[in-house]
This record gives sequence, structure tokens and C-alpha cells, in this order.
Amino acid sequence: MPPTTPDRDAVAAAICQSRRVLIFSHVNPDGDAFGSTLGLMWGLRALGKSAPVSIADPVPFNYRFLPGWPEIASRFPTDEDLIITVDGSDPTRFGPGFSPDTVGQRPVIVIDHHVTNPRFGTINWVDPGYPACAQMIYDLLQTLGVPISPEIATCLLTGIATDTLGFSTDHTTPEIVQAAGELMRAGGDLPFILKQAYSTRRLSDVRLWGHILMTLQLERHLTWIESRLEDRRAVGASEGDGSGVASFVLSIEGVTVAALFVEREDGTTKVSLRSAVGWDVAQVAAALGGGGHPQAAGVTLSLPLAEARALVLHHLAQLRLQEE
Ligand code: 5GP
Ligand code: MN
Repeated sequence: MPPTTPDRDAVAAAICQSRRVLIFSHVNPDGDAFGSTLGLMWGLRALGKSAPVSIADPVPFNYRFLPGWPEIASRFPTDEDLIITVDGSDPTRFGPGFSPDTVGQRPVIVIDHHVTNPRFGTINWVDPGYPACAQMIYDLLQTLGVPISPEIATCLLTGIATDTLGFSTDHTTPEIVQAAGELMRAGGDLPFILKQAYSTRRLSDVRLWGHILMTLQLERHLTWIESRLEDRRAVGASEGDGSGVASFVLSIEGVTVAALFVEREDGTTKVSLRSAVGWDVAQVAAALGGGGHPQAAGVTLSLPLAEARALVLHHLAQLRLQEE
């Protein structure tokens, strides 16, 4: 049993008092968004509560092994008495179903591990010390006395394995590795999950990587790449394809900051930032209206690609190595 925290206890108490819970996670969802929400859904169902999951974007094909994935949809609150947001760093990240109008007077629980989270809920359990939200859900379910079923184990292990990039990020802790071991014992198949997340790609995705890598620019410790609309059209790739390529170019010797610019259909540009320890890209993303973690952050700018690139590179050029 993890040590108790006042915030987690407050979350557990509010859940105990509720009967119908609507769970939200963020747009451009990743393994932690899917794994945390579905793990929580199964856990709350075990307590006899209804707990639908709302994520505004579709589930990518390689995550369609997660128990309960077909039930994920872009939802609006109906008869729920409690709203929970998971892994979302600001209130604009949950699609059209989450807004002051749609939520109304219902209490909102915020469960998150992003340092930039402004604590927008009624009860906020925000702890950047957790490498993955799925580990927060694991601790919460233990507080609630929910037995860890194979379904829960598979979902939570997926969140843990992917937000640590396969236990390779610098914030991977002994505690999260231990949690992963416990989830394997409870029925989670770690090698299968890692294969789904990292070694299962569509041909169009791999071809897009080729196009993106051809755009690579390098200036001292900074590198940047672009996912252009015309390239995606040429290979039949979608906007979400190319995920992982920003982390990949960060591996170039001597590079400490990487940026990926994704040109979007609506004329906006999505920016993904990745960095080595000591280079805080969360503050750059936050200054531009986005957010994230010190080593992985993002923002969507209402600017065409060339202007977004100029603005972001200007900010990144000011970034300095932080003293420990
Ligand atoms: P990615 O680059 O993979 O989309 O996101 C990296 C991290 O930054 C994730 O933790 C994600 O939640 C956060 N992030 C990405 N885009 C945005 C954004 O537009 N706003 C905020 N607040 N966070 C973002
Ligand atoms: Mn996360």
C-alpha cells in the first residue's frame, strides 16, 4: 500500500460518495491517457459505479488491444455526479465535452502529473513526482481497496510502460518499476505491451518518418524537424503519425533540445518539444500557451508552420542549461 497523501485521500473520499463518474483525458491521446482512463474505468466498475471514458480523438490501431477501448468516445456529461480528468495539463485539453457550460455545478477531480498544471479542479491531486498518471491510478485503486484484475493490470502497465518510454526516461523511479512488476504478476503482459507501443507501425507511418527526417535542421545543441501536410498526403499518413520521431532525433550526439512542427489542416501548427535533463522545455511551452513536462512538452499555435517555427526557435535559443 503506498503512503497516503491528503490529496489522494480526498479523491478517494469523493469517489466513494459518487455513483456515476465521467472520466476525461486529453486530445492527441497517448498510452498513459488510454491506460489511466481505462484502468480507472475498470476499477470504478468493480466498485459498482458507472464510469464511461471521454477522449475526443480516435484510438490508434496499435492501442486497440486495451480492454474496453471500443467504449472510448468523445462524450458530454449527462447524468453523472462527478467528473474526473486524468493526465491533462490544462482545461482546454479535453475536447468539446469538457467546458464550464457542459460540466456545470458538478465537482471536478483533477489527477495529473504535469508540472504546468494550474490545478483547475474542485479537488486537485497533481504530483509531478509520478512518472506516469497510470501509477497514480494504481495507488488510488489500492487506497480504494480495488483488487487489480488482469484488465486493470494491462491498462495501467501500458500507461507506465509508455510514459517512461519503456523505462528509459530519466525520471524512471524504483517505485514505478516495482509497480510494473506487481502489474505483471496481476496479468499485464509487458513484452506484448511494448511491442504494441513501439514495434507495431503502419507502412505509411514509417514512410512519413523518412519525409520528416529529411527536413532535419541542426544548430549547435538544437535540432528541429517538420511533418508537412503535403508529405502526409503523399504517403497516406495521418496527423498523429510520426509520433516518437522527436524523441528519436534527440538521440543525435550533442543535441539537447529537439522540436517537431506538425502542419495541421486548419492552418495551425502543433509543436512537440523534447529535451535532455537540465533543459526545461515545459517553461517554453507554457510561455507560448501550452504545457507539459520539463523533458517533453507541447503547444498548438494559431500560426502557419514557418511563423510557428520562427517563434519557437527564438524561444528555444534563449533556453539555458539549468544548474542542479
Ligand atoms: P506531445 O509532444 O507528445 O504531444 O506532448 C508532450 C507533453 O506535452 C505531453 O505530456 C502533453 O500532455 C503536453 N502537451 C502537448 N501539447 C500540449 C498543449 O497544447 N497544451 C498543454 N497544456 N500541454 C501539452
Ligand atoms: Mn502522462
